[in-house]
Amino acid sequence: MNPSTDFSDAGLAARLVQRIQEIAPSCGTVNLMEVCGTHTMAIARLGLRALLPSNIRLLSGPGCPVCVTPEEVVDAAADCALEHGATVLTFGDMMRVPGSNESLQQVKARGGKVEVVSSPLRAVAQAKASPETEFVFIAVGFETTIPAVALAVQQAHREGVANVSFLVSHRLVPPALDLLMADPDLKLSGMIAPGHVSAILGEAAYAGLKKAGIPTVIAGFEPLDVLGGLEALLQMLSDGECEVKNMYPRIVRPEGNPQAVELIHAVFEPVDAHWRGIGLIPQSGLALRREFKLLDAARRFDLDLSSSESDKGCRCGSVLLGHILPDECPLFGTACTPDHPVGACMVSGEGSCAATYKYQGAAL
Ligand code: SF4
Repeated sequence: MNPSTDFSDAGLAARLVQRIQEIAPSCGTVNLMEVCGTHTMAIARLGLRALLPSNIRLLSGPGCPVCVTPEEVVDAAADCALEHGATVLTFGDMMRVPGSNESLQQVKARGGKVEVVSSPLRAVAQAKASPETEFVFIAVGFETTIPAVALAVQQAHREGVANVSFLVSHRLVPPALDLLMADPDLKLSGMIAPGHVSAILGEAAYAGLKKAGIPTVIAGFEPLDVLGGLEALLQMLSDGECEVKNMYPRIVRPEGNPQAVELIHAVFEPVDAHWRGIGLIPQSGLALRREFKLLDAARRFDLDLSSSESDKGCRCGSVLLGHILPDECPLFGTACTPDHPVGACMVSGEGSCAATYKYQGAAL
């Protein structure tokens, strides 16, 4: 199977669009949300919003990991590099995310040691190869990324790698869904669940949405995946049904990946966590369990991770909660562009402001 051709058939896509346009009028006014940055990019790249009737609003939720990473984490990483002489290792998307004063790219330009790595295990390998250097890995991301970080933590612990630590800022999707469901300003009608996260958590993660009467589809990322997911959602709304439909069975098993979930729980425990632009969500973050605390960068360097949020006029929080679309932010395309981002949503390759700017342009 070749997903890039098998799931991009133009004739099938046209029939699905036609079907969506036929069903949509019977659905009333609906707010559909995706909570995955890869879906955000796919929807923008395909120009799907322009194909939908005006009663169907497609919103982007808080599913871009870099967008919800708070300023204090960037600031703490900057401290590690500039004040403690550590080499900070990070995924590339984090480099341009603004802290309260500067991004890690700017920290690097000022002489701080910041390097991009492609995997957390690579961070451990680098630490083993350079035992005289202190390394800090910035651990961000949702359930999709967390198992790989957990493996790296376990390896560093098992092998006694003393010169690496982890600045943990993982976030969990289900508590964010609870927040969205309870939001009276959003009035969520249907959910496109994140394919990658679902591969870890399985279908049970969305039982709360079903209970709340919000139809949900688990969808992949190719054009026919997204269109098929939308069509199934609208059909459920039109028929008055409410189910969790797994439209991505080639990747997502009903039970998810229990080994990965077990690995997460073996290394981390849930804690309340601050989401950039959104605020505190109970039990939505992770901390290293007691036996791994020596690998906790916050503890090793006594980092200040108390929540801070500078007011630069960025409306990322409203965008991530689906209260506004990116182009409804007054700074969109003027003071805030990919070259001069004000907020993280304009930086990340998965951010909804960046996606809107890239595929629809500044002047909408
Ligand atoms: Fe923030 Fe820029 Fe998006 Fe406005 S356009 S919400 S300032 S990232």
